[in-house]
Amino acid sequence: MAELEHKYEVDIHQTEERQKIPDSVKEELKKSGMMDEKGKLKLNGVSPKMLKKMKQEYVECPVLKTDIHFVQCFVCPNFQSRVMGKVLCKGDPL
Ligand code: SF4
Repeated sequence: MAELEHKYEVDIHQTEERQKIPDSVKEELKKSGMMDEKGKLKLNGVSPKMLKKMKQEYVECPVLKTDIHFVQCFVCPNFQSRVMGKVLCKGDPL
């Protein structure tokens, strides 16, 4: 299979700490139907178990130059796919 075109392979890290999704991102998620009014995430094709794991993951985003909650990365326009603990990221300016 041809590899997807991407600029970065970004490592996914785990944390035990509670991570907050920024309010601006929550608004976006709500608008696109990926979060309900109570703040519960509804991502298509993602099981509750997977979601729980995703909530403890983050990436050091090479575009925004900061740590990003994996859920935010997952819904980012640059997100292509997740392969063996890495995010394939298009790397376009956000
Ligand atoms: S997909 Fe988006 S959030 Fe994730 S690493 Fe790339 S630019 Fe950053």
